[in-house]
Amino acid sequence: MSSMQPLSLFTLLTDRLGKRLQPIQATKATLVDVSHTLEDLVLHERLPALIFTGFQESSHWREETERYRELAGVAHQICIFAGGQLPPESDQKQIHVRLHGPDPLRQEWFLLVLTERFAAVLCGRDLQAPTLSEGDRRFDTIWTFEPDLITEIVAVLHEVVARERPDRLVDLETAIERFPPPPPDAHLLTLFTTRMIDDLVRQHEARLQLERMLAYESRLRALGQVLSGVAHELNNPLQGILGFAGLIAETPEQAPTTLEEAGYIVEAARRAQTIVQSLLQLARPNSSEPALASLNEIIDQTVIFVRADMSSYGINLNITSEPEVAPVLVNRVRIQQLLINLLTNAIQALAGQPGAQQIEIIVRQHTLEWVELRIHDNGPGIATEMHERVFEPFFTTKAPGEGTGLGLSIVRTIVEEHQGHLKLESGPLRGTTFSILLPTGVKRKAETEPVQAENRGAGLILVIDDDPQIVLLLERVLKRAGYVVRTERNPEVGLRRVLHEPFGVIISDLLMPEMPGTEFYERLIRLNPTLGHRILFITGDATRPTTQAFLQGTGQPYLLKPFTTQQLLSSVAQLIAAQPALGDQGLAVVGPAPKRAPEADESR
Ligand code: ADP
Repeated sequence: MSSMQPLSLFTLLTDRLGKRLQPIQATKATLVDVSHTLEDLVLHERLPALIFTGFQESSHWREETERYRELAGVAHQICIFAGGQLPPESDQKQIHVRLHGPDPLRQEWFLLVLTERFAAVLCGRDLQAPTLSEGDRRFDTIWTFEPDLITEIVAVLHEVVARERPDRLVDLETAIERFPPPPPDAHLLTLFTTRMIDDLVRQHEARLQLERMLAYESRLRALGQVLSGVAHELNNPLQGILGFAGLIAETPEQAPTTLEEAGYIVEAARRAQTIVQSLLQLARPNSSEPALASLNEIIDQTVIFVRADMSSYGINLNITSEPEVAPVLVNRVRIQQLLINLLTNAIQALAGQPGAQQIEIIVRQHTLEWVELRIHDNGPGIATEMHERVFEPFFTTKAPGEGTGLGLSIVRTIVEEHQGHLKLESGPLRGTTFSILLPTGVKRKAETEPVQAENRGAGLILVIDDDPQIVLLLERVLKRAGYVVRTERNPEVGLRRVLHEPFGVIISDLLMPEMPGTEFYERLIRLNPTLGHRILFITGDATRPTTQAFLQGTGQPYLLKPFTTQQLLSSVAQLIAAQPALGDQGLAVVGPAPKRAPEADESR
């Protein structure tokens, strides 16, 4: 080899042992797994060892400092080869050897472990063929447990150290004498291969599960959109049928047969309502019921699927949690899916970025009712104008084959399935943070124990709905109960009315062509924040991705169409009872400003 060529361990070994070694091809993900499993064996079995390893510059060393400090605690001696700079040797156990040339190890993988019971070498050279993901990068690889071959490899490394670090040669020779390559210990090899197989099976299963879910999700998403539209269209007429039949049934002077027939109509409408609801549930891929689980445990069981990918990019993962965090009421598999999607995005965002790359998972108790999960990466971030688009199905900025554009829309669906909250904070210099609130299942008293209130009441009520039948029905039911009712089919006009009349309760539909109920609410509280406390929403479509988050965010009561007259009257009465300062005529109440809808990206 000419002196101009960079000093490469792979080339040295194959030049010398070429005929006796048959390089195989391995992916980077496999090299990471094999290396980690070997190192874990040394760590867990506490095997005194001599370890030779190569680093791409010294970044890997810095990122895995803790692990290597622990390894150095067990190992007798660690000899590190690097193409670029390494930090100074921290103790006598370390020998740092800088190889010549422009970082040959950037293209190589090197690990040699010598213990008293077995020795193994793993050395690969990047084929530099284009691949879709970093983990799939292929390496020509030497991999052996054979003592004879390893003795020769050690001799090659000995020569390198003699030439580059003659001052530490004696230390290395003492270590080599202590660990001559022995025949492998069958028990340890069984342990090693068992762990590798376990790991491969887990990865394979995780991938299969992910693929199955992605295929399922995309079909269900399309189906869900259709069903949600159908449900909305059906729930409005159903509300009319149920409501007017209810009115007939509640009119005292009716003939008994009319009452009986009205009862049949109500019953049939109820059956139709159940069918609509079941159709909607079909569109929700919720395979199992939520159960209480430790979020930290779910995180630990999930990160194993992405650790190899992170290591292959030199990404550091930091998981922190408050000591006392309540269990969360979740569907475990779905939360695992959510974590995998967010972590995969973070890894892809960090891949190839300069400097120390970092992913942080933080768990903390947000309130009694919510546990917060934060996933942060210090990658390039997402431009503010993209914050909404990234949640759209099939929106991706990745190369074809690399991104499906479904990851974040699935994340949003999963958060909604748990009635949680999702927030994206990201900008060019801040990296990206997704924070998610998951329920603990603990509800504040007020939420579980509805206020017992008198259904009959006096007061001025405004009803806003674009559907004339619904408006008519609500007007009749509320008037019968003694309220003074104004109705409006156009929310814009409704907004003008609230300026002039002191409404005690404002009932508003959510899905209206002129102005969505969400916008009506925002404009209402801008006019007068206290009015936000007086609103009761009605909706025929609570499955829209945005609706649940909006309703939760406002904290105001809502009714799902079709609802009964009793449900309507009791909601109105509760709303009035919850405003103690409100008089019979619905005069102004002074109170805290109502909650705004969460600033989560899906809140419209
Ligand atoms: P995909 O990963 O298939 O492209 P996603 O729905 O998961 O689909 O993400 C949509 C887009 O959002 C990505 O293509 C990327 O542009 C952006 N994105 C998601 N997560 C991050 C992140 N952590 N950092 C930077 N950009 C991100």
